[in-house]
Amino acid sequence: METRAVDIASRVAEVRARIAEAAARAGRDPADVLLVAVTKTHGLDVIRAASEAGLRHFGENRVYEAEEKIHAARGVLPGDVVWHMIGPIQSRKARDAAPLFEWVHSVDRLKIANRLSAAVQGRAPIQALVEVNLSGEESKHGFDLSGWPGNDGQLGALFSAVEKMLALPGFDFQGLMTLAPYTEEPETVRPVFRRLRELRDALRERFPGREWPHLSMGMSGDYEIAVEEGATMVRVGTAIFGPREG
Ligand SMILES: *Cc1c(COP(=O)(O)O)cnc(C)c1O
Repeated sequence: METRAVDIASRVAEVRARIAEAAARAGRDPADVLLVAVTKTHGLDVIRAASEAGLRHFGENRVYEAEEKIHAARGVLPGDVVWHMIGPIQSRKARDAAPLFEWVHSVDRLKIANRLSAAVQGRAPIQALVEVNLSGEESKHGFDLSGWPGNDGQLGALFSAVEKMLALPGFDFQGLMTLAPYTEEPETVRPVFRRLRELRDALRERFPGREWPHLSMGMSGDYEIAVEEGATMVRVGTAIFGPREG
């Protein structure tokens, strides 16, 4: 257990250093990149080690798993820990999800936005990101923008959904999230990250007065490239906690 905590602390330091180097390469301030530690499958002891290493933002991808952990974490983890939902939410679980997470990165369809909005009561608005699928892979969730730029129909469909979502109470829409295709060769995903940034620029133009400041992109294999391309949030699991079991 002791060794593990030491491992986690040194991996956190390494990831932070790499983020800082990537930011410097792009002329960005590393303070503008939030490290969200992805704790799915890991227990509270591991999460506590991460919090002792200075992390406060944790990402989970399943509502039930997160619910247990977040309840158990009360009084165990520092009070300023922030939970991020990064995985797909089934509509029947939206009601359970709404009170758990400060951030939801995975608003991937209008229906889930409606359900979450209806479930937000007596709490601050959900900080939300609209998830888009830029690669067209079937396994990916999110609004289909696989043909963009070029496919104006897809862009129009996104805009019309966003217009409806912006009218919903209980949300503060902050930007976009995407999952790049898995690859052994991180450079091949750079264009995906670049397109997410360009899509954000298109949203800014279409919905003036909103900054859409956040881009959640980049995981263990490609977060440095994501930072070079403008990520403000990277979601990193394996590079901090090691391989997941199961
Ligand atoms: C699991 C997961 C991650 C983290 O993946 P690693 O490769 O372990 O860093 C990031 N984003 C989402 C949506 C995930 O489900």
